[in-house]
Amino acid sequence: MNALQKTVVTAIDAKRDEILAIADHLLKNPESGYREFKTSDFVRSELEKLGLEVKSGLAITGVRADIDSGKPGPKIAVMGELDALPVPSHIFADPATGAAHACGHHAQLTMMLAAAKVLTPVIKELSGSIAFIAVPAEEFQALEYCRQLMDEGKIAYCGGKPEFIRQGFLDDIDMVLLIHAGHDTFTPESFNGFCMKQIIFKGRAAHGGLNPWAGVNAATMARQALNMIDGQRDIFNDKDSVRIHGIISDGGSAVNVVPARAELELQVRAKTPEAVKNACAVVDRCVKAAAMAFGGGVEIHNLGGYMPYRSCSELNAVHAGNLKELCNGELTNFGHRGSSTDMGDVSMLMPALHAYSGGFSGSPHAKDFVVVDPELAYIQGAKLLAMDAVTLLENDAVKAREIAALPKVMDKKSYLEFKELMSSSEYHDYM
Ligand SMILES: [Zn+2]
Ligand SMILES: [Zn+2]
Repeated sequence: MNALQKTVVTAIDAKRDEILAIADHLLKNPESGYREFKTSDFVRSELEKLGLEVKSGLAITGVRADIDSGKPGPKIAVMGELDALPVPSHIFADPATGAAHACGHHAQLTMMLAAAKVLTPVIKELSGSIAFIAVPAEEFQALEYCRQLMDEGKIAYCGGKPEFIRQGFLDDIDMVLLIHAGHDTFTPESFNGFCMKQIIFKGRAAHGGLNPWAGVNAATMARQALNMIDGQRDIFNDKDSVRIHGIISDGGSAVNVVPARAELELQVRAKTPEAVKNACAVVDRCVKAAAMAFGGGVEIHNLGGYMPYRSCSELNAVHAGNLKELCNGELTNFGHRGSSTDMGDVSMLMPALHAYSGGFSGSPHAKDFVVVDPELAYIQGAKLLAMDAVTLLENDAVKAREIAALPKVMDKKSYLEFKELMSSSEYHDYM
């Protein structure tokens, strides 16, 4: 560990109580996506305490404050997610809203703020600049609320990071660092991306006993569509990690009425943007075929989603090196994950680190996901973020320059075109 890294690590130890108090406050004030107003205010005031000029209200609740070394070099972002999710049975759930930090995003914000506290005083000893960013709505929850915000023109995407990208708040960023709450210290190789689909089958109501032949049964279309989707599993290549799962969100209104409407909500996941697109086309084929077979109609609404996440081995190596320096720890590479994060969207456009800290037990998104070791959950991650920033921006930011120059998966234009495709709607009528 070099002298500057020692300085930031010692400073975090000195601020331990302050940092744990931040974690406690955030944990006990959980708010769901695009509703993180109290959390956003708190993050802003913590950054203002450091004398920083803070931009807030970005994509509704996002916050950003930059520090500049005054010397040329890349701009790295240290990021935390603002949102909780509805888990009313969680021990720290808000009794009024049911929101709880059952994915541990309060730990990300704590680490980001702690890193800001110790990096701000030493920024002049580095090159380039750092943006401390709190992003809204990672969990892709509350679709109704998101749609309302879209109708009001406030957002175009359910995810906070895609919305940040769309609105240009990451245009000047060269790479992003984030540490997520977890059971262990590791970095995944990749995550699946996904497209959220709402499928509405249209039929015709009739009396279920008296004259069902006069009806067109939308629930039957939904059932048969699901059967056909299930029957497609063999055609997906293992390497694409395709997962299609969903619910019947409307199966009819009354048992003695032939359902005139049925609705499926499906999540189509895969490892590459191309594989997501292809799996979506298969699902569309199945739902159209079901509507056609029973003489109904089908609305296909693509409600957006997240891009697959691709890790950056060079950033992972920086993180692994610092874990070794800090505590002789080994960073495990966790391979591919079937779940998704909107850090995937960021990783299509620039190098991104989506690492995990230890210190939590229980099942993520469940009532028992809680901190059991505050040292690992908050303090160690904060030290690692600060050390990573130093490694990247010291010595004329040579490491950050090298990583910023790596080839990107997509440019912003092709990214936005793909997002457009994943947000389109169509209607097919076979009545
Ligand atoms: Zn989550
Ligand atoms: Zn999460």
